[in-house]
Amino acid sequence: MYDWLIVGAGFAGSVLAERLASRRGERVLIIDRRNHVGGNAYDRLDEAGVLIHQYGPHIFHTNAEAVVAYLSQFTAWRPYEHRVLAQVDGMLVPIPINLDTVNRLYGLSLTSEELEAWFAARAEPVTEIRTSEDVVVSAVGRDLYEKFFRGYTRKQWGLDPSELDRQVTARVPTRTNRDDRYFTDTFQAMPAQGYTRMFERLLAHPNIHVMTNADYRSVRDVIPHRRVIYTGPIDEYFDFRFGRLPYRSLRFVHVTRDADCHQPVAVVNYPQGEAYTRITEYKHLTGQEHPRTSLTYEYPCAEGDPYYPVPRAENQALFKRYERLARAEADVWFVGRLATYRYYNMDQIVGQALATFRRLDEALGGPAQRIQPAPRATPRRPAAALPPAE
Ligand code: FAD
Ligand code: UDP
Repeated sequence: MYDWLIVGAGFAGSVLAERLASRRGERVLIIDRRNHVGGNAYDRLDEAGVLIHQYGPHIFHTNAEAVVAYLSQFTAWRPYEHRVLAQVDGMLVPIPINLDTVNRLYGLSLTSEELEAWFAARAEPVTEIRTSEDVVVSAVGRDLYEKFFRGYTRKQWGLDPSELDRQVTARVPTRTNRDDRYFTDTFQAMPAQGYTRMFERLLAHPNIHVMTNADYRSVRDVIPHRRVIYTGPIDEYFDFRFGRLPYRSLRFVHVTRDADCHQPVAVVNYPQGEAYTRITEYKHLTGQEHPRTSLTYEYPCAEGDPYYPVPRAENQALFKRYERLARAEADVWFVGRLATYRYYNMDQIVGQALATFRRLDEALGGPAQRIQPAPRATPRRPAAALPPAE
């Protein structure tokens, strides 16, 4: 008999498993339908012995000290600042667009001040910035928008930027200085021994049992449990009752090359032409020394594992209908990127899981007051909670 059945062993599920086991002393079964823990952050040694990220590059960056302090109990860190180049018009130039990007692309030698004026002369006035196209054309104008954003976004999302919420391209800033870091967060690092090792440590508590290759459907009625944390797709939980929520998928092609190094930085973006969006070379991220090098090509697609909730008003409206069902679901908490249908980074998910734990701990009372009802395979007590974003 478990106190909790946790569906999904990614950040959301694993952080909650650790908190429930170590802070409330509760018995937790955490399952994942994949054959490993770590969710999309899972990394592994490939056939050549190079550490790769199975589901594309995961770079940890945050301004949340509490999240760093929490995860640091389970991993040491390798300082790493992410830099990305984009192949545009046959050149490799920095993205986010900065002073060097513009000077190199257009053969100019502008100063930062001059670049501000240069952008201002090209920026298109937009009364209300609503879409991902508005964000970029109102900042840098149409030419840079088309070179860097239009093609990439159409590949990545299968939609034109004008059809996507502004939050998508707003993730990428524009700079007038020479800062070529992808992120400016105060903390940027990689887990020193990789993400999977960090997850193994998170889950290494005697009260936590891990079961991989196990789907919620095949487990829920046969393994007795009192409550559920669900981190899978919310529409699937409700049997797609209102129709499917759109998720964007990716096909990852992993290759190893007989060369020490393939490209100058960890990620090169391809906003023009190619069917893939980007190539990642992992040794830049991990610092691993190896005579060969491993790369991942990302090919966006509609079908396949759900990786990205698609930020659009109509999708959010459909999500809200599922959210109402979720709130009424007895003893089930919906947490994580798929269950709350939000385009969240890892640190935001850790923050969301920690906040959920605090609320849940408060709602259920401390370990001493823990109620111990008779075992039931399908729990039926009120108290569903979709955690608000942190
Ligand atoms: P997930 O990691 O998706 O875990 C959910 C788990 O639930 C999955 O393992 C799934 O198999 C399991 N599951 C679902 N349904 C069931 C079921 N019915 N039964 C059993 N198991 C089930 N974030 C960053 O901060 N930095 C980055 O650089 C970054 N890069 C990214 C690159 C890509 C290509 C992608 C797709 C995401 C990236 N992210 C990045 C986002 C990051 O992956 C997520 O924020 C984080 O992994 C979300 O954790 P989660 O636990 O909510 O979900
Ligand atoms: N984007 C783009 N060109 C780029 C980089 C990003 O058009 O070279 C757009 C694209 O729509 C992408 C979004 O900006 O989905 C957010 O980029 P980010 O790197 O944050 O995406 P992630 O891979 O982290 O989801």
